[in-house]
Amino acid sequence: LVRIVAARCRRALSRSGLPDLDYALNPYIGCEHGCLYCYGRLYVDPEIGREWGEVVVVRENIVEALRRDVRELRPGIVGVGTISDAYQPIEERYELSRRCIEVLLKSGFRVSVQTKSSLVERDTDILRSSRADVGVTITFIEDSIARRIEPRASPPSERIEVVRRLSRAGVRTWIYLGPVIPGLNDDEETLRFLARLARETNSVLYVDRLRVRRFMYSMRTLAPYARRAESYDWSSYNRLVEGVCREVGVVCRQGFVGDAVERPRRTLDTFFAEGKSGGR
Ligand code: SF4
Repeated sequence: LVRIVAARCRRALSRSGLPDLDYALNPYIGCEHGCLYCYGRLYVDPEIGREWGEVVVVRENIVEALRRDVRELRPGIVGVGTISDAYQPIEERYELSRRCIEVLLKSGFRVSVQTKSSLVERDTDILRSSRADVGVTITFIEDSIARRIEPRASPPSERIEVVRRLSRAGVRTWIYLGPVIPGLNDDEETLRFLARLARETNSVLYVDRLRVRRFMYSMRTLAPYARRAESYDWSSYNRLVEGVCREVGVVCRQGFVGDAVERPRRTLDTFFAEGKSGGR
């Protein structure tokens, strides 16, 4: 059972280090989903990092703090859930992410959500805004593998349907295949399936590799794959991605450059400006 810790915050928005996001908003620190590979644990208080997946800090006054922030800050693009999933199960009870997104959209900010939770669908009504987009991370296409590696996130079979329904409802969607873990999800079948899903749902497909970190070696399930990733031929995989995306006819971006997780905003903007989303 996850331990909930209530906390207060002075500011809701922080400057984002991620490319093409101006701000980051995280109503919860710590993530119930408990993905083994999660880098989030490296960016939080070490105590929470050590208990990753078992403790969630709820920033109870974040909506009030955000109301102050939006009056003071220049409008920009806000990444929602950059270090902890903003739609993890606890959001059902607290609705902090929903209320923050409402404030942001009303104040002229743009919102970019990334999640592994089917709960995001609850907020379709506000996320249909032309100033919002939703990325659903689909790392594996088989529920059984996901259960081992992303134990408490929504099963991929659900996430796949969520992308379909969001897209049909007019939400701007993108799909994130990441991290690619050699031996687990670097196969052509996974890539082809997600490329087709991206085409079907008018989504951009982002593909990003595993960045090996020391903590991964202390996990029995992950360690062999982390070792394998160290000497993996990423340029061959790169070429596979390019080939499959070209063949399927989908806009695809790879985050294989440098060490930062890349999510080129301009791609999304151009994509939607060209009206490929069929959106609003
Ligand atoms: S859903 Fe995202 S933030 Fe949560 S544990 Fe998994 S990778 Fe980390």
